[in-house]
Amino acid sequence: MRLLLVEDEPGVARFVRQGLLEAGYTVDVVTEGKEGLAHALSDAYDAVILDIMLPGLSGIEIVKRIRNRGMKTPVILLTARDTVSDRVAGLDAGADDYLIKPFAFPELLARIRALLRRPPVQTNTILTFDELELDTARHEVRRAGRSIELSPREFALLEVFMRHPHQALTRAQIIEHVWSFDLYSETNVIDVYVGYLRRKIDRGFNRTLIQTVRGVGYRMEVNEA
Ligand code: CA
Repeated sequence: MRLLLVEDEPGVARFVRQGLLEAGYTVDVVTEGKEGLAHALSDAYDAVILDIMLPGLSGIEIVKRIRNRGMKTPVILLTARDTVSDRVAGLDAGADDYLIKPFAFPELLARIRALLRRPPVQTNTILTFDELELDTARHEVRRAGRSIELSPREFALLEVFMRHPHQALTRAQIIEHVWSFDLYSETNVIDVYVGYLRRKIDRGFNRTLIQTVRGVGYRMEVNEA
């Protein structure tokens, strides 16, 4: 799990970063608002932790802009200002949670865990990854505008990848999402279906979208072929 921390107070940034690393997260720290926004928009993070008072751009403004772009990445705001209006503004802007400084580190960890467990709210039925589009309501898939026919199983499999882009998914995790029967002993069924899916979504394109993660499973990631 990769987290983005945008925090301009060096002491707080160091303390939070260290704790998150020890908890097993990958952490990028940015100390300025505009740079924080650019990182958050890269869509490389599983969750974003934002200080509110930042040079360049406030944490509330950053949330607003990433939500305006349709991004659902979970966001936790850190605020020193214990005022109702701040919290309301933050939540209205699209933040999922907030913590008032100073906070106990285990509480931050607990909130991150809770957010990462929560499935993202789908206000929009169209999932996109690179030039691939999956419409969950119409059951349609397109790549670069070209329609792709998938079987229901292949569609379900692709949906799992598109809901977890950039994440290495184990065969067991994939099976849990796609197959309702107990097929845990036959995980190679995943390899067969990933093969079908790759043939349909990647054929004719010079970038592949589903990568093998050796010893783990698969990950949705762009790879120049
Ligand atoms: Ca600050």
